[in-house]
Amino acid sequence: MSKRAFNFNAGPAALPLEVLERAQAEFVDYRNTGMSIMEMSHRGAVYEAVHNEAQERLLSLLGNPSGYKVLFIQGGASTQFAMIPMNFLGQGHAANYVMTGSWADKALKEAKLIGETHVAASSEESKYMSLPKLADIQLSDNAAYLHLTSNETIEGTQFKDFPDTGAVPLICDMSSDILSRPFDLRRFGMVYAGAQKNLGPSGVAVVIVREDLITDSPKHLPTMLRYNTYLKNNSLYNTPPSFGIYMINEVLKWIEEKGGLAGVQDMNRKKAALIYDAIDNSGGFYRGCVNPDSRSDMNITFRLETEELEKEFVKASEKEGFVGLKGHRSVGGLRASVYNAVPYESCKALVDFMEHFKNNR
Ligand code: PMP
Repeated sequence: MSKRAFNFNAGPAALPLEVLERAQAEFVDYRNTGMSIMEMSHRGAVYEAVHNEAQERLLSLLGNPSGYKVLFIQGGASTQFAMIPMNFLGQGHAANYVMTGSWADKALKEAKLIGETHVAASSEESKYMSLPKLADIQLSDNAAYLHLTSNETIEGTQFKDFPDTGAVPLICDMSSDILSRPFDLRRFGMVYAGAQKNLGPSGVAVVIVREDLITDSPKHLPTMLRYNTYLKNNSLYNTPPSFGIYMINEVLKWIEEKGGLAGVQDMNRKKAALIYDAIDNSGGFYRGCVNPDSRSDMNITFRLETEELEKEFVKASEKEGFVGLKGHRSVGGLRASVYNAVPYESCKALVDFMEHFKNNR
């Protein structure tokens, strides 16, 4: 087998090698059907079984709370930024947002195109290097929902707990940390994620939503932008991204094999601690960007003394087989994305490389 890179890409990102190999084994002839899963009808029993299995596995990993449905929607998480206010923001109400960074900002901007909005809390003052305190979240009287970004992929912050919003539905963009740890789905009206970090390849967003919130959708909305269309048709109103959903099902099996969400959380904590320790114990050579209490276990952002040195770091890392360590172009610096599928060995290799780079300056 060819050598695998030390892949720290932010998304699309590393997938479990076991999953890729299993998909490869089934690629040309899926379970003696004489064709790839990509070549079959999405109306056939073979594909539908995969589709339903992925939905069931996802809910089962989350403890099967009653009343929730899994939808598969194309257009990535960015389309969800628009669909959420289109479906849930009625006249006389305000869409409430917690402002934590680049992705929360994009979500808010879409809501502003649709209707009234309210910033319920913000950490912009800290340049998003810390998170607002849950106690400081102030809902407007007429809140249609509260939208929160659990993990800011670019800045590298992650909520460790979630607010209690009472009767107001809590809607969460979990694109960059879904299924990286256990969470209580019952606290949310809806969670959603683009698949391409912790779930599978790009091309599908997973939406897990309380069914009672989408038993109807505003009648003026186009069919494909109504959550109710996906509910009524089991996300098979039109042709779904079938290969992506098949891959998600395989990734979910892999998570089960790793001990479910508690199992992957354990791995993720160890990986993140290893890298944060290397940063914190570098005598100031590496500097974590984010306040320690807001740090993400998924996207670890750090800097060196100068941009020149950061460029050198990236260049040297690439020579050693590391990929994706350059920070997002909007913030600069360095970033290691350590989603579920990034092996501990890659993190160990990174820490060794960091040490080597520091000592050879
Ligand atoms: N939200 C978050 C937190 C993200 O990290 C991303 C993508 N990096 C998005 C939303 C947008 O996702 P997509 O590219 O699937 O539209």
